[in-house]
Amino acid sequence: MADSVTDLKKTYDAVVIGSGAAGGMAAHVLTTHGMKVLMLEAGKKLPIDQELRSMQWPYDHPRRGNLPPDHHALTYNEYTIRNPPYGPGFEKYKHLHSYTGGSDYVKNIVVDERENPYTGTHYAWVRARCLGGKTNIWGRLALRFSDYDFKAKTRDGYGENWPISYSDIAPYYDKVDLYLGITGVKEDLPYLPDSIFQRPTKLNCAEVTLKQSLQKMDRVVTQYRAGVTSDGLKHNQYRSRCFGRGACERRGGCDIHAAFDSPTGLIYPAMDTGNLTVRTNAVAREITVDPDTGRASGVQFIDSQTMQDYTARAKVVVVAASTLESARLLLLSKSRLYPNGIGNSSGHVGHNFCEHVMGAGIVGQAKNLIGKSSTLDDGRPGGFYLARFRNLNEKHPKFIRGYGFEGNAGQGMFPHIADSKGFGAEFKEEVRNNRGSYISMGAFGEVLARYENYVDLDPVVKDKWGIPSLRFHYQFGDNERRMVEDMRETAQEMFEASGFKIVEQDKRLYTEGRSIHELGTARMGSDAKTSVLNEFEQSHDVKNLFVVDGSAFVNASCQNPTWTIMALCWRSCDYLADQFAKGNL
Ligand SMILES: Cc1cc2nc3c(=O)[nH]c(=O)nc-3n(C[C@H](O)[C@H](O)[C@H](O)COP(=O)(O)OP(=O)(O)OC[C@H]3O[C@@H](n4cnc5c(N)ncnc54)[C@H](O)[C@@H]3O)c2cc1C
Ligand code: SF4
Repeated sequence: MADSVTDLKKTYDAVVIGSGAAGGMAAHVLTTHGMKVLMLEAGKKLPIDQELRSMQWPYDHPRRGNLPPDHHALTYNEYTIRNPPYGPGFEKYKHLHSYTGGSDYVKNIVVDERENPYTGTHYAWVRARCLGGKTNIWGRLALRFSDYDFKAKTRDGYGENWPISYSDIAPYYDKVDLYLGITGVKEDLPYLPDSIFQRPTKLNCAEVTLKQSLQKMDRVVTQYRAGVTSDGLKHNQYRSRCFGRGACERRGGCDIHAAFDSPTGLIYPAMDTGNLTVRTNAVAREITVDPDTGRASGVQFIDSQTMQDYTARAKVVVVAASTLESARLLLLSKSRLYPNGIGNSSGHVGHNFCEHVMGAGIVGQAKNLIGKSSTLDDGRPGGFYLARFRNLNEKHPKFIRGYGFEGNAGQGMFPHIADSKGFGAEFKEEVRNNRGSYISMGAFGEVLARYENYVDLDPVVKDKWGIPSLRFHYQFGDNERRMVEDMRETAQEMFEASGFKIVEQDKRLYTEGRSIHELGTARMGSDAKTSVLNEFEQSHDVKNLFVVDGSAFVNASCQNPTWTIMALCWRSCDYLADQFAKGNL
């Protein structure tokens, strides 16, 4: 993969803004079609393997993996008791990070909150500004949506249906599976469609107990469907197969790239085609417009290091800066023709913002495993997934839509000590005795897309580069609160049915944003008055403008979004390339 040089005198076929799951996929598909693409990424290209150090033992790190003293990662309470941009009270820290930035391995991957402030209602916004974005540290759970999601309005009357069905996107999920690799087991569930899986991981003892107990309740526990190649990928020289080193759990990703990340999975192979130019440290601040045609003409950006302004010209603009940053960029791109921001004649940009509500964390103990000899349980890129079971065939009286649980059991590198008492030799003995017996899980539920949950531009606060910040107007509603109550009850019910002793139950309703699955700020639809994009993620207003990340989602489902972001993006970019070749853009 050779480094590329940006030629700002030329007009590229397409400029892609952002290099995460969406930007990487856009670059892969468009360059494969022979288009000349410029990718603008706001963050640095990090020496990611040196950052992640997946195999470093805790005792080989001066602070056992913890942050240096002048860095601070926001805690749960700090999101709710202090107003963003997080002052006063943090003066002693030179660098502030989101809650997920609490280890030395990710401090350069996640943004410095002070440089990237935002305002408004509480929101635990996690951003990664570097080549590959959040895919460098994502949790790898790779699930498909189904018509229970795409046609949810038909089932319960709420919101809008997507303008596509599962059959439209299924071939593209297949392409993503085959190109990037995914592990899992087929279950043949209409509400959680199967992928084309590589070799699966194994459930361990307590997980099998849970699976078997829940079969009686008609609930399905399956192996964690991980966006990880377990068999290897012959077509990709930058990624290794998973060696089950169990280093996934550290929030620092996989330094041999068995777990998908956008640079090694998509961007480096796209550069090898000779059709992709990547410019990092390029903060897009506005999509420029040709005043005569009303079409997008390129992107104005700032070099994050020199603070110099530049303009890149392109025949098509593809926005993939992540759901909230993409909405911000559309809103920032105001002109005489588009006074409310480009692509925003509907007034829906920033609105219908949705995500997942997290809750009902539970820890149990399988009594039959206490005192048993050690087993190797952590050599896996994930534990289990407990599929949605609410509002499938029956209607729940208190809420609509559903939730699923992610979890794992067995012996990890760091033993769980929730129920262990004592100190010294006695404590160590207690920990050793219990360490293999714990099982835990937590839920992710669908937050309804509501017009009144939205982001706009703050009239005063700006980021380090002088660009107006986002302002949040976003809160969970009654449906989410009632769903979380149900999550707690069913978590307890399922652990009790499996014979686990419950040792911890989390009763908190986590801050908005904690799921890191923000979606829906430029939704697709067939009516240009109530949606921003068409079914190919193409702006209704501006034909040569596409927004190919989670912004396009009509609802959030309860399944994790990244595999769907990439499948939709692939479909849209196939369409884009076809239209481009026909001269329609
Ligand atoms: C800890 C963690 C765990 C997660 N676990 C899962 C999981 O298990 N399953 C799942 O499906 N998802 C998971 N996610 C979410 C997943 O990472 C995202 O859905 C995915 O990365 C979204 O891709 P994206 O391209 O839209 O955004 P990103 O990956 O965030 O990439 C956007 C890129 O755009 C760049 N950018 C932003 N603004 C600008 C600008 N103005 N100019 C130029 N560039 C810009 C950013 O720097 C970034 O590199 C997790 C995320 C985190 C952080
Ligand atoms: S378990 Fe597999 S995917 Fe996870 S860090 Fe190790 S090699 Fe990478």
